[in-house]
Amino acid sequence: MVWDERQAAMLAEMGIRVWQSPAAAASPVIDAKAEVPASPVAVAPPASAVPRAAAPARGARPGEVEAMDWPTLRAAVAGCTACGLCRGRTNTVFGVGHAQAHWMVVGEAPGEQEDRQGEPFVGKAGQLLDHMLQALGLTRQAEGEGLQPAQQVYIANVLKCRPPMNRNPQPEEVAQCEPYLARQVALLRPRLILAMGRFAVQSLLQTGEPIGRLRGRVHQYHGVPAIVTYHPAYLLRNPADKAKAWDDLCLAREVMRNASP
Ligand code: URA
Repeated sequence: MVWDERQAAMLAEMGIRVWQSPAAAASPVIDAKAEVPASPVAVAPPASAVPRAAAPARGARPGEVEAMDWPTLRAAVAGCTACGLCRGRTNTVFGVGHAQAHWMVVGEAPGEQEDRQGEPFVGKAGQLLDHMLQALGLTRQAEGEGLQPAQQVYIANVLKCRPPMNRNPQPEEVAQCEPYLARQVALLRPRLILAMGRFAVQSLLQTGEPIGRLRGRVHQYHGVPAIVTYHPAYLLRNPADKAKAWDDLCLAREVMRNASP
């Protein structure tokens, strides 16, 4: 059987090795030019706003957070007591990656392993995320010989503390934590945000619409183009949707190419 580039990329990303004829293997497996939609990229209108929970003043609040540099912001997150999640955490999970990365991935919240290690996406979902990024030639590595910002990804979550038993984030928790993410975006100034999973997507875009209705368009978060896709944990449970996620990554790459000088 002959696999096209898209299938080969997805199979590789799923950990399945396929035999390819030498002729086919000579061309790079991951070149998603073929994946780029022929039609111009659709730009989404601003998503319909949903009300935010009121954020009572506790701990460092938006006005202060907006003025913070990276070290101050990291320290503020590490010491944050703005919501009840601080009581159950082992570590805050600030974010990882190069401070000049062109790409930013935003997930939902730390899970058990992330809470233990203080780094986002280190569990099984994180491994899948790393494979997906690798399929685009991207890495979360901050240091490395010859690494360019265009290949680097900064990864952060909407929530910096683990919700107990991995329950869904509460609106109050999201409201308290969002200024930190907004400041990370302002400091990083990524060229593109990849929002992964319902909570990340709905919090960033301030909408209640499902991912299926938001995919395939370019949204905006604080002036940064944002592409929506499924959460890696969801993809582990629903591998059939990996092909859609690959389409989303290809759209992101296309937007990035168009944005790059
Ligand atoms: N899921 C997320 O959304 N973020 C993590 O850091 C880990 C799992």
